[in-house]
Amino acid sequence: MIASPREQEPKLGSYLRVERNDHTVLVQLLIESRLGTNGLIVNPCHIARHEELVAEAGRQGVETVLDPRSVELSTSVGLGLSGVADLPWAPVAPHTPDDLGGPAGLLLSEEIVGFAVKEGLSAILAPTHILGGADDPWLQVDSALVRDLRRALDGQGRAATPIYYLLVARSALFRDKEFLGRLVTVLADLPIDAIWLRLHPFGTTTSGPVALRNYMDVCRALHAVGVPVVGEYTGTVGLPLLAFGAVGGITSGLTLGERFSLDRVTKKSSGSGFAPPPRVYLQSLGVFVSRDEARQLFEQRGMRSAHACTDAACCRRGAVDMIDNPRRHFVMRRDAEVGKLSRVPPQLRPTVYLDEMLRPASDAAVRAEKVLPDLQRSRRRLDSWRATLGAMADGHAEATRSPVPTGHRRPNS
Ligand SMILES: [Zn+2]
Repeated sequence: MIASPREQEPKLGSYLRVERNDHTVLVQLLIESRLGTNGLIVNPCHIARHEELVAEAGRQGVETVLDPRSVELSTSVGLGLSGVADLPWAPVAPHTPDDLGGPAGLLLSEEIVGFAVKEGLSAILAPTHILGGADDPWLQVDSALVRDLRRALDGQGRAATPIYYLLVARSALFRDKEFLGRLVTVLADLPIDAIWLRLHPFGTTTSGPVALRNYMDVCRALHAVGVPVVGEYTGTVGLPLLAFGAVGGITSGLTLGERFSLDRVTKKSSGSGFAPPPRVYLQSLGVFVSRDEARQLFEQRGMRSAHACTDAACCRRGAVDMIDNPRRHFVMRRDAEVGKLSRVPPQLRPTVYLDEMLRPASDAAVRAEKVLPDLQRSRRRLDSWRATLGAMADGHAEATRSPVPTGHRRPNS
């Protein structure tokens, strides 16, 4: 029997970044067998708190990806973030390329692998650093770290554990074609199973038409490496990136963290240090609002029928549950969105995204904006995506496509 295209295509990748208070809802969804996410990104600073979640995810075959926080460990602000300095592999002063260029790099890799093995984690983000250009010494040092990590994993009997290369840089840097070319050459030679892209600044609220097109161009250049590209901190803009094949997977925070800024690790924050409260995802618009704004919206005539969740498994009491348990609602809706795109053949995904997701969202935003004027910005953004992506869809057939992450080593990596 010939498999239909639908059966041949693996599900697009979707990972969740688990912050301090996110574990309860995820354990619940796992127990109910309702977590459709490929994997969870494990923050080692919270490992004791998240032990039960990690164990249950492992039992159910959900990937658990260790983020060793190497970016934070290489800046003084990052090292000062909660829990980072207490990691077993944390240095006294921020890591520099000189620190990790020699045997210390192997030691770091061994410590990270030891942790992943002890905690039963299924994949590792390579302990890479912020790249400043083609001549940045970190590029060489990080390449050696990836090889050390592979050796350390193999030495621990974990030859099947994939390594994902974390690529952190300022978006503007990619205008330098020499940098991009060198990067592709270096990465193609490394034993990596995916590239996770963390660009500054990028995300839903910073994605004007030019940023969106440039991001897609960077992804397409990286396709030459031959591994899946995963867009980190993309937020809702991750959906068109998946639909257009620029990335094969996305990561999302549980209602927070839909944009990335290096400021978090380079600038002292005046914030309280406490995590902000979760926000309510309006799936009909692809935007987050505060709980108060959600209440205000749903009080208006016609807004419940337009925006309340109708999935009884997700929010039995509709709008009430969206506000009551915004994390659960978000996780299930994001799974549904990624699932919807996954179910159609790749060449049709841009059309499905534009016609069935983006256009209804930008139309509905016109009315919702009358109740919540702050939504005007979101509506304008949706309109700009519509124009940009509509134009891109015409040339889509010839564009390269990222492979989809599978959670396994790729052959010959
Ligand atoms: Zn819901």
